[in-house]
Parts: sequence; C-alpha cells; structure tokens
Amino acid sequence: MSVAEASRILDAGVAPLEAEAAPLAEARGRLLRKDIRTDADQPPFDRAAMDGYAFFPEVGAARYRLAGALKAGEVLAGAPGNGEAVRIFTGAELPRAGMAVLIQEEAQVEKGVLVVNRRVEPGENVRRRGMDARAGDVLVHAGTLMGAAELAIAASVGETRPVVTRWPRVAHATTGGELVAPSESPGPGKIRDSNQILIAALLAGCGLPGDLIHQERWGDEAEAAVKRLGDEPFASADIVLISGGVSVGEHDYAARALSEAGFELRVRRINSRPGRPFIFGVQGRRLAFGLPGNPVSHFVCFHLFVRRALARLAGAAPAGLVRARLAATLERAANPRPTYWPAVWSFNEEGGATARALPWGNSGHLAALAGANALLLIPPNTAALPAGAPVDTLPLA
Ligand code: AMP
Ligand code: MG
Repeated sequence: MSVAEASRILDAGVAPLEAEAAPLAEARGRLLRKDIRTDADQPPFDRAAMDGYAFFPEVGAARYRLAGALKAGEVLAGAPGNGEAVRIFTGAELPRAGMAVLIQEEAQVEKGVLVVNRRVEPGENVRRRGMDARAGDVLVHAGTLMGAAELAIAASVGETRPVVTRWPRVAHATTGGELVAPSESPGPGKIRDSNQILIAALLAGCGLPGDLIHQERWGDEAEAAVKRLGDEPFASADIVLISGGVSVGEHDYAARALSEAGFELRVRRINSRPGRPFIFGVQGRRLAFGLPGNPVSHFVCFHLFVRRALARLAGAAPAGLVRARLAATLERAANPRPTYWPAVWSFNEEGGATARALPWGNSGHLAALAGANALLLIPPNTAALPAGAPVDTLPLA
C-alpha cells in the first residue's frame, strides 16, 4: 500500500476528539474550537502611547499650567481645564476626550508650565478606545493553534478557559526480548531500548502532541500482550502504540495481539523505505499503530502516520511538504520504493528552501538521524539526484 493510500485510510478512520474548556496554562499547543471574542473595546479607553504631557490642543495655546500627574492605572479626580496639562505615563487613561500627548523628549517645562512650540493634533500619541477591536469582535478564530500569542490574547479578554480539543491519551509499549533499559549494559545479544524515549520525545515535541499517559516494555509473549491491551491504561487510551514486532515473523505478535484485542487492522504494510511493516488499526474510537522496531523506520512511520493522526484528532490539517533544492548531489542505489531520507533543511537567502541529505545506510542506522530536521522524499527508481534538484521535504517540527 502506498503512503498516500494509507494516509487516506487513516484520515477516514480518525475523527477530531471532543472539545473541552481548559485552563489557560493547559491550552498551549491545542486547537481552539470556539472563537475568542473580546469582552470590551480594545484598548478599553483612550490611553497614552508614550510618557509625556497630556493637554487639550484644540485651543491652540502655547502654554499650559501643569495640574497633576497620571500613572498607568490611576484616574484624576477632576478633568483638567483647557489651559491645563497633566504629566502622563504610558498606559494611563486620558482624562478627557480630544486630548493629545506631547512626548517628554519634546516638552519644555518652565516653572510648572508646559511650553508647546509646534502645532499638536488631537489624538497625537494616544491609543484610542476601540482602535484595535470593538467589544464582541472575534480576536482568535476557531481552528487556530493556541500558541503564546493566542494565550496572551485570551488572557487579555478574560477568557481563562478557552474551548480547545482534548489531548489524545497515548499508551505505548516497546516489544522484544532483546531490549534492556538504556541505563543497563546489554548482555549478549541484547540491545538498549531507544524507541521508548524516542516516542516520548516525539510526542512532546511535534506540533500537535499527544498526552503520553504510559510506557512499558513487553517481552516476546503474544498472550501477555493481548491481556495488557485489555487492561488500563491501554484499554482507555485514544492511541495504542506498539513498537516492534509488526512484521510477519513468528515472534512478531503485534498484528495478532491487536486483532485478538478487537482492533480492525486497516493497514499492514507500506510501500516505502524505510518502514515497510506498519500497522494501523481501529477499534471503536481507539486507534492503534504498530511501528517497525528498527529505529529509523520507527521514526519515519511516526512522522508519516502518527503525527498525521494527532493532527486529525486535534481537528487540524496534517503537516505539508516543503519544496526544497538539494544542497549537494545525492548518489545512491536506485530503489523501487519511495524513500524518506534523513536530511537537514533551512530557508535560503533567495527565500526558497535548501536541503542536505545526511549520510544514511539502513533502517537500523539510528545515528544517521542526529541533527536531522526533515525527511526528503526520493521518488522510486531514482539513483542520483544532482545538486540543485527540487525535492519534496517533510519538516520534522
Ligand atoms: P522488529 O520490528 O521487532 O522486528 O525489530 C526490528 C529491529 O529493531 C531489530 O533489530 C530490533 O532489535 C530493533 N528494535 C526493536 N525494538 C527496538 C527498540 N525499542 N529500541 C531499539 N531497537 C529496537
Ligand atoms: Mg521484535
């Protein structure tokens, strides 16, 4: 099955999760599901844009008697008269409509009198009430990702519980009797489990992350795996992730375990390099992914499919490809499968993107991923790509 076909099946099987009102501190990185409107005009009152002196310039006078000072947050007891000026600081409310602020660098003050030597227009250096938005205006539209700016906007209008998509809950198991914890020194035939932290970090770092609720390590017994899939937290996870054992060898039990646990397996194998064995399954609203154990395949399948599912669950569009130019010739043996090649990309000075393929050998070659921030999509049967050739690129962040 092609990556495109598998992506279509995935899209058809994944609906956005329900929305919930979340505290601001927990809304970052989630998709807004209900417009955020301002509860008041923005700014809420005419206010000084700069430190200076406020007066009523329409009378055209040149001298104004200083009558008080106004810090941000304060109001004057009485409005100043036409011939009077007030020392004012940035953010303070203008005491009368039609006033102007002369910035302090331009002001000349002599014995309690402000002397103005030029024509000043009403409203100069004043941020007028409602100039940014009117009460009731939408400031952040549903469908926007809640980043730092959107959270700040929500705070500014008192929206302390924006309605955002619920995080998907992810339960993850790495599989294989050869695995030991990274802190252990592997005995004969054993290796360290690097996919566990890989998944934790990928989930934390991709644009629309999932909430990793649990990770554990499974051995080679299919029955134990089936039982675990029926237990918490796997039983109520939105996404069940299994790393390794997704191929068809006799110890590869992921497919059997997922079927026995009630998942309908909709994708079993992908025509791509790396990442050939890959499972996507559905049971009710629960999704399952079986990612090949080889670390590069694992990494690529996460970016192609799990990230896509996370975006769909959030109600967002999946990440798109960037067209980049190859920085240097890429020589390799032609492969009949489309290849996802670890690479580093960046914008260049012409406003386009440049990508450099990293030295990479095979699906177990984890070290090739060091520094990678993209995957280059190399079309099937392509032996060499010259420097400057256009390549589709999937940015990893
Ligand atoms: P599998 O997909 O289970 O057939 O594993 C393919 C290869 O990836 C084997 O060489 C495994 O030892 C290796 N592998 C599987 N799981 C992991 C893991 N969690 N961390 C590192 N390597 C792994
Ligand atoms: Mg295995």
